[in-house]
Formats: sequence, C-alpha cells, structure tokens
Amino acid sequence: MPNKPIYLSLSQQSGFEHEYVQRALETNWITSGGPNVNEFENVLENYLSEQSFVTALNSGTSAIHLALILLGVEAEDEVICQSLTFSASANPILYQGAIPVFVDSELDTWNICPQQLEIAIKDRIEKGKKPKAIITVHLYGNPYKIDEIHSIADKYNIPIIEDSAEALGSSYKGKKCGTFGTFGILSFNGNKIITTSSGGALITTSKKIKEKAIFYATQSKDEAIHYQHSEVGYNYRMSNICAGVGLGQIQILEKNVLARRENHSFYKEVFKEIKSVKLFEVLNEDYYSNYWLNTILIEPNREKEIDCESLRIAFKNQNIETRPLWKPMHLQPVFEKHPYYGNQIAQDIFEKGLCLPSGSNLTIEDKNRIKEVIKTFFN
Ligand SMILES: *Cc1c(COP(=O)(O)O)cnc(C)c1O
Repeated sequence: MPNKPIYLSLSQQSGFEHEYVQRALETNWITSGGPNVNEFENVLENYLSEQSFVTALNSGTSAIHLALILLGVEAEDEVICQSLTFSASANPILYQGAIPVFVDSELDTWNICPQQLEIAIKDRIEKGKKPKAIITVHLYGNPYKIDEIHSIADKYNIPIIEDSAEALGSSYKGKKCGTFGTFGILSFNGNKIITTSSGGALITTSKKIKEKAIFYATQSKDEAIHYQHSEVGYNYRMSNICAGVGLGQIQILEKNVLARRENHSFYKEVFKEIKSVKLFEVLNEDYYSNYWLNTILIEPNREKEIDCESLRIAFKNQNIETRPLWKPMHLQPVFEKHPYYGNQIAQDIFEKGLCLPSGSNLTIEDKNRIKEVIKTFFN
C-alpha cells in the first residue's frame, strides 16, 4: 500500500466553522459583507492591537492592491518590493501600471536588506523618481529587520506596505506583525496559518482609511439613491460565508502557531547533527516566528549527490511534499525588465533552499516518516 501523503501545509478545521456558516445561511446573509464579516474584523482588531483597523477582503492580493490605491500609486510611479517573495506581493504594482523596483534579501532574516534598500532609494531619487511605497515581507512567518527598515523608510518619508500574509501570529519585540507599516496585509488562503477558504485583510491605523478601503472594495458607490460613481471601484469585499469560516478558524490560531513552532523544534532536533544543512531560525528573541513553513539551506555535495533537488525527490518517493523556496521576483520572466538592487543573496537562498512539511496537523507518525527520509538521505 502506498504511503499516505504528507503535505507541505494543510488547513485544519476547528469544528466551529459550521456554526457561523450555518448562521449566515439561515439568516440569508449570503453576500459580500454582513454580520460575520464585521465580527471577524472585530476579532482580528482585538487580536492585532488597539490601534488596528481591519478591512476583510476576498484575498491578500486585493489587500495589497487597495493599499497601493490608497497611497495614491499611479501609472509610472515606482514601488520598491522585496524580491524574495511570492508573486502576489509584486503583481498589484503592475495592476496600477506602476514600476516595481526589486531589492535583495539579507542572510539573517532572508527578508529585505537594509543596505540594499537605502542604495535603491538613493539611486531612484538620483534618477529622478522617489519611490511611492515599499512592500516588505515577513517571509515564511519570519519578521524582517523592522527597526532598521522602518528607520530608513522614515528617513526618506516613504510609506511601508507590510506583507504579513504568511506571518499572522508572528511578532517583533512583542508587537504583532501586520501592525508596523502604514498598511499591513493578511492572507487567509487555504495554505496559510488560518483560512477563510480564500480571503485577506487590510490593516490600517485609522477608521477613516478603513472606510475608504471598504468604499473601494465595494465598487466605489457615492452617496446617492441611484448608483453613482466618481472613482474606479473594485469587487474586493470578503463574503459573509467566508468570514464565517474565518470566525471558526481564528479560535485555533494560537493552537496552530504553537503546533507549527513545535514542528520547528522537531526539525531542529533532526538536523542537529547534519552539518551540511542549515535550518532557518530567527536571529534572537526579539523575533517571534509562527514558523508558517520550516525551511532549510543545503550545502550541495556533488560527490555524494546531495542537493535540495535530490532531497526533494527522496521525500517525493515517500509521498512527502516539499517545495523549493520562492523564486526571486527579479528572476521571473514577468518582472525581469524591472530594476533590481542586490548581491544575489536571494538567488543563493533560492538555489540552496527547500520548504519542509509544516502543517499544524503533522502527526507523530508523519514526523517519524520525515525523520526517516532525512536520516537515510544524509547517511
Ligand atoms: C499568500 C501570499 C499572498 C497573497 O495572498 P492571497 O490571499 O493568496 O491573495 C501575498 N504575499 C505572500 C508573501 C503570500 O504568501
């Protein structure tokens, strides 16, 4: 009998989802917006911080798009973006007809590099255009160098859109990821730490901006009896059914974070003796990661046929899913003509890296099978 599959990151139900979805169906709130949406926003606001205003949307991607719109990003404007990320961080820049400027990572957090960021800002200003925004990412749930990056952004007075899609539950110096930027965004896609099946959220610090976000997300309807529009609108609001799933899911957020952090401890133990592998770990106790995905760098050894691709295949032969890291955006055909500032760090991480199964529902048997593959492969 073939082994049961072990996936990279699977969603897990709390059991409370049905109740909220049922309530939506029974009260006939089957639309975008509604009581579940408002309640989901309240729960998130309480969770994140006192100053957070949350707008629930249909995806993390639309949250980034709305953040750019709310910052006034228009055609030909330049927006800096971390290169090592999922394409959804950068695509909305193109939706606006703006120009992405990609910046390399540093090795401590794998996120946007402070030195390269400042070089990029100075050079773009020198070339005649000050970047309109900076999109930073907490990759795989690991906070970026928040103090350094934000002080550079403040120095040049450029707002930050904090892509916290992978980092709900992570924090830096005790403050939750998603609450540092002018805007923060979350994703509730199926593979994230909690899901609404598909969904996202925009985090801001003012009620007025939240109202404006809802205005754009619901087709920019002016105040009139008939439908009147003086601005371009979008259909980006979260559905009341999805928010019901979210209300059930958020009850197990902390449990999921702890389970994923336990996976991290498991990998730490497994890789302790393996010199050619470096498990990603946060730099120090200022950084609290949800370890959404556990990632490793493998020093290739041609003689012994050790590299990340051969390990991936060894896992695959046991029906265990692993995946290469995000391929940097400046190396993607769709973005390759756009400017890039860096020293190939992101590319190096990409070429040596692998994401390991990290779901909050990994069982002891799953972990034993994973451990077996690793032990056999490296022996
Ligand atoms: C998942 C993800 C997004 C996009 O979220 P969706 O809800 O799938 O649109 C954005 N950025 C990063 C880094 C992600 O991992």
